[in-house]
Amino acid sequence: MRGRARDKHPRTATSVPSGRPSFRRDRDKQSSAPLAVDSSPKTDHRLSSVLCPLSSVLCPLSSVPAPTRRLATLLTQIRACRVCEAHLPLGPNPVVRAGVGARVLIVGQAPGTKVHATGIPWNDASGDRLRQWLAIDRDTFYDEQQVAIVPMGFCYPGRGHGGDLPPRPECAPLWHPQLIPLLTRVRLVLLIGRYAQVGYLGKSQRGSLTETVRAAHDYLPRYLPLPHPSPRNQMWLRRHPWFERDILPLLRERVAAALADASTPTSTREKKPR
Ligand code: SF4
Repeated sequence: MRGRARDKHPRTATSVPSGRPSFRRDRDKQSSAPLAVDSSPKTDHRLSSVLCPLSSVLCPLSSVPAPTRRLATLLTQIRACRVCEAHLPLGPNPVVRAGVGARVLIVGQAPGTKVHATGIPWNDASGDRLRQWLAIDRDTFYDEQQVAIVPMGFCYPGRGHGGDLPPRPECAPLWHPQLIPLLTRVRLVLLIGRYAQVGYLGKSQRGSLTETVRAAHDYLPRYLPLPHPSPRNQMWLRRHPWFERDILPLLRERVAAALADASTPTSTREKKPR
């Protein structure tokens, strides 16, 4: 994922950091409303009877908790999305990872070509640095029951004069309001780069990415804005030593606390998808 700080789609963001993001969506206002989420772990027999011709007693789906099923259904819909296909030079290939147990949510920009090809987000030098910032290993990072990875654009948007294009403006307003409410156990949302900060902090963001990151304390406990960990941002890191001195310790402390909070009882913990 690439994440240089540019702000070409401020029109998509209308929220303040008090709760969920609020996106305007022009095409389909009715279905843009966040899903009514039942976060209780009970089984949704009504849905299983629709999905499975067997009775709710015989149907193997009937034992799957309803939130898990809802998330799986939505992820299937996302992965079949073709909404902005005409604008995607490599075609749609939505890259998103989420489990109902996730306690940390990473909102980045959009996949680059490597992520598009592999389907694995942050599997590059930027990801290595991000994991170093978070002080977590790859197993934890790629465990969807601990860390959800939901960029502002799920598909590679193409390349412009100054690098990768911004995330497609259709994507986050279409999917985030449906997806984020299903991640009811998220304790900390990391907003990486300007697009995520515009989308989630709205008017409460500062005048620049640097000022927003420097004011990270102001957005806690829910949000923590970060610069992109790309090696191309090395100069930014050199120019702003307060980031490593003040923000990284805060980030590590908050991530550790959020993940520690993820220690749900073994009986309710879901299996990691293969
Ligand atoms: S970028 Fe988002 S809206 Fe566009 S095709 Fe991919 S998933 Fe759908």
